[in-house]
Amino acid sequence: MSKNGRSGRFVIPGEKLGVIEEFIPDQGTYVEDGAIHSRNVGHILMDFANKRVSVYPAARNLNVPGVGSIIVGNVRSVQSSTAVIRMIKVGKKFISGSFTGMIHISDVSFRYTENMFDAFKPADLVRAKVVSDKNKTFHLSTKGDDLGVIYAFCSQCGGPLVRKGRELKCQTCDHVERRKTASDYGKGTL
Ligand SMILES: [Zn+2]
Repeated sequence: MSKNGRSGRFVIPGEKLGVIEEFIPDQGTYVEDGAIHSRNVGHILMDFANKRVSVYPAARNLNVPGVGSIIVGNVRSVQSSTAVIRMIKVGKKFISGSFTGMIHISDVSFRYTENMFDAFKPADLVRAKVVSDKNKTFHLSTKGDDLGVIYAFCSQCGGPLVRKGRELKCQTCDHVERRKTASDYGKGTL
């Protein structure tokens, strides 16, 4: 029995509960690559007699992202066609647990985005909308004036970037950068 197998433990969507060699996946779970994961926020129930594992949804209304949620998160990594975001807020509340989402280059802006590295950089604070949770992945969009980067740091020196027209300028070293910014960039509104 793996160390994860403990009845009553609180789990979040995507969390690994065990492997199919040990348990039969039941309510509130899904299987990926031979591992059983939670589909819900809730409490794990191990039925050792029948070798079944299920997740009972939490009764409380927790702050977890869903399709339509407006989230705020940090950019963790940027690649040529995607950016990975670690979500820290859903709506006005901070998230319990750890959730990541992905922005595809086609969901950055209503306008064509030529270069993902000019839209986001690691450590940027971004406001985005959850548009899909297909394949257990939160897909995010920053299309629209109110969505996009709300705070960013200079990639050269780490100083804060201030909006100057359509570009962002470092207050410390004068380096100029671009981002897909939200209309309230730098105003301190999470
Ligand atoms: Zn700088």
